[in-house]
This record gives sequence, C-alpha cells and structure tokens, in this order.
Amino acid sequence: MTTLVFAVDPAARVPLWKQITDRVAGLVDEGTLSPGDRLPPTRVLARELGVNRSTVCRAYEELWALGYLESRQGSYSTVRGRARAVGSVGPATGRPIVDWDRLSAPGPRAAFRGLAALPETPDVEPGAIDFGSLTADPALSPIDDFRRAVRRVLLDDGRRLLDYGDPAGYRPLRETLARRLRAHGVRVSPDEVLLTQGAQQALDLVARLVGTPGDAVVVEAPTYGLVLPLLRMAGLRPLEVPMTPEGMDLDRLERVLARHRPAFVYTVPSFHNPAGVTTDQAHRERLLALCEARRVPILEDGFEEDMKYFGRAVLPVKSMDVHGLVLYVGTLSKVVFPGLRIGWIAADREAIRRLAVVKRFTSLSDNVVAQAAVERFLRSGRYDAYLRRLHATFRRRMTAMVKALARRLPAGALEWREPAGGCTLWARVAGAHRADEAALLEHAREAGVTVTPGSLFFATPDDGLYVRLSIAKTKAHDVDEGCRRLARAVARLAAR
Ligand code: PMP
Repeated sequence: MTTLVFAVDPAARVPLWKQITDRVAGLVDEGTLSPGDRLPPTRVLARELGVNRSTVCRAYEELWALGYLESRQGSYSTVRGRARAVGSVGPATGRPIVDWDRLSAPGPRAAFRGLAALPETPDVEPGAIDFGSLTADPALSPIDDFRRAVRRVLLDDGRRLLDYGDPAGYRPLRETLARRLRAHGVRVSPDEVLLTQGAQQALDLVARLVGTPGDAVVVEAPTYGLVLPLLRMAGLRPLEVPMTPEGMDLDRLERVLARHRPAFVYTVPSFHNPAGVTTDQAHRERLLALCEARRVPILEDGFEEDMKYFGRAVLPVKSMDVHGLVLYVGTLSKVVFPGLRIGWIAADREAIRRLAVVKRFTSLSDNVVAQAAVERFLRSGRYDAYLRRLHATFRRRMTAMVKALARRLPAGALEWREPAGGCTLWARVAGAHRADEAALLEHAREAGVTVTPGSLFFATPDDGLYVRLSIAKTKAHDVDEGCRRLARAVARLAAR
C-alpha cells in the first residue's frame, strides 16, 4: 500500500475533497504514483489528513470518475493505467508540440502574420477624444424602437424565427431591402438579394466565389483595411490602383485591366473608407464601361450608402448595371446596430444563387430573429426617423470638424478634402513620412486624441504620412478640442 504524504488546508477556499483529488491526480500525472499502486483505505487516509471519511470517499469517487483510479467492491483502490494528459507544450523541449503556424493554410498564415505586423490601433484612453472609431455611435442608438420590434416578432412568430432559417436570409427582409434599394436607383427582385452577416461576410463570400487562388483583385490605394487580409485568405492578390481626389485613378485601372486580368475590382465609390471621396456620375460611368469592356466584375461596397447628408446623392454604380456585372454590398452597421450583423449583396440572380450555396456551407443559417426584427424596424418608419436624426447629428459633427481643422491647424500642415457625407476625413501630414507614423500616434496619445494610422489602409503603403479622422463617436462640441490636440501632436512632430 502506498503512503500518501501531503496535507490539506481547512482554511483554503478550495473544498477539502477537491484538494485531495487534485493532489492525488497530480501525483499520478507527474509519475510519483504508477499504475497498479494501491491507495490507502479511505479510513486510513481520513485519519492521516484529519478529515471526515466521507470527504476522502468523495475524492476517490471523483478520481474514479476522472479515470485515475480503479476500485472493486470490497477491495483497495488502485491507480489506473491512464493515457497521460498531454499539454500543448512538450516536456523535454518546452516548445509547443503543435506548430499551428506550419499547419495553417497559406492564406490564414499570411493573414495572421500580417495582423501581427500591423501598427496597433490605439485604445481610446480615458479623457481622450475619439477620432478613431468608425462605428455607429451607440449613444444615439434607437434601442427602445428595436426592443419593441424584437418583442413584436417574437410574439407573432417566435417559434419559427428561432428555428434554422433560409440560408439566403429571411425572405421578408430581402423583399423590404429590394424595395428600399429602388430609392438608390437599384432595381432588383428579392431573389437578387442575399442577406449576410454584415458587409464583411458579403465581401468574404464574393472572395470565395469569384477568382482562383493566385488571381489579382484590384483595390484602391488606400482601401478598406480589412478587405486586404480577407482577399489574401482566399488566396487572392490585392493589386493597388491609387486613389486621386476624384476616386480611383481610371487611366491606371485601364492599363491594369489590360495587363493583369483581375478576378474583380473592389471599390468604395461613396464616402470612401478611408479616403472620404465620393466619386461623381462620370467617374462611375467610366469605371463601369472599363470593366464591362473586359468583363471584369465590380464588387461595389456601399457600406454607408444611407449616410449622404451634404449635397445631392450620386447613385451607386449598380444602378447603371444592365449586364449584371456589379455585386453591390450594403450593411446596416455604419448607421445602426453593428453587432446585429445585418448586411446584404444585391447582384445578378445566378451570382446570388451561387453565393447562397457558399453561404449555406459556411454558416447554415442566419440569426433569423435579428433579421425579422430589423425588417419590422425598417417597415415601421422608425429607421428613417432615426436616419434623419443621425444625418442632422453627423452634419453638425462634420461641419465642426472641417471648421476646426481650418482654425486649429496652421495653413498647409494637413492636406485634406471635405467629404460629402459618411464619418471620415482623410488627411495627409504635410512634409512628414510614413516612418514618422509611430511618433505621430504617440504624440496624439499624449495630447489626448485618438486617430487611425493611415498605413492600415494600404497593401504597400506609399511614403506619405496619413491619418483617418472619424466623427462617428465624437460629439460636435468635442470636435474643436480634438482638433486642437491633433494640432499639438502635428506641431510636435514637425519640431523634431
Ligand atoms: N466595408 C467597409 C468599407 C467598412 O468600413 C466596413 C466596416 N468598417 C465593412 C465593409 C464591414 O462592415 P460590417 O461587416 O460591419 O457590415
């Protein structure tokens, strides 16, 4: 019989039976106790440890349940030959025995390494003014309206909505969106609308469907930062075409299309993230004509289509698309409830059928309750009322930003253009270089303002130093102070 030498601590927060279990299991794991070793009878061990016999019985039962002990009626408990618990670290080398980097597919591996190499997006510190976030301001969220919509749909149809849903998305929402898209000049039937988990999933589905690993995909430079790893994960190669103040450089695009036969062209024509540019009608027509001539699909990201609050609206490229070349992506996220993950793709019916198959095998079903509640919310008119309030708020904030930049920064220190809507303003720091980015971020942090570093938005950053300024979460009366702090950070950089 093995003698067990250890003590238990009645004052500890861990119950006594658990302390005994852990100690004995530890002795087996480390090899001090071997298979076949006999444990002391419960009565003996209870006496040695100064605990109740029932406490030891409970510990032995637990050890038996965990596979550490064997016991037969009326006999001793013995240690069982048990496969050793294997941690993820090898005992001899101290190195992980599973090399996830080597096991990863090339796309995810590159995305992981790329993410590790990115500059850290600074946390918003207490007291700092946030020009970084680009998500709808939760402080403005129409929570009560949405709560009522959820309650209503659950009362009316809860059981069905809590079941798996149509992989293409909740039909009434597809109908409502098809109707709403008409206001943007996009004429599609509900069968030409696929619901997705935000615009991000829409982009992902297209990247999985269109193109072959190794193909190039045209993106603007700068472009939406999180489309780059997404393309790489699908094995696609982002091919950058520079942005001009009028939008993607179309002369350059023409040459790229001729030379590279890209799988598709990704573009954000309205309220570009990050560049803030909204292209005009002529630019959109030429972009479409160039792609039509080469039969290259356009992935049009209309992530803020509803966020026009200055001047006249320009209709999406999709509104001119008679050949079904444009895959038009939308989302609710930049207006309201990003956590609900409500996005969509409007496209040619055949493309939608194929995208729906990709989606079926990656996610089976959406969150139908969320889609039904959103449908109710849109149909109730509360969304449009909220949107009008949001426009008024954002117009105030953006006007404040434009004024404050002009007032607080010395002429020529920042180069920027006034956006036509959306939340972002893109600025180049005059006379500075990309290598100064970390220093600028640090000065901004010290000055108490958060901005988004420009290098996040390029596959291959150029030498300029850029920042993206967003008014999504900053109240109009804080904007001026934010710009004053930004001016201080820029001045410190210039003084180096
Ligand atoms: N496209 C652009 C240009 C974006 O900025 C974002 C979010 N930042 C998305 C797509 C994805 O949005 P979501 O998935 O939240 O709808």
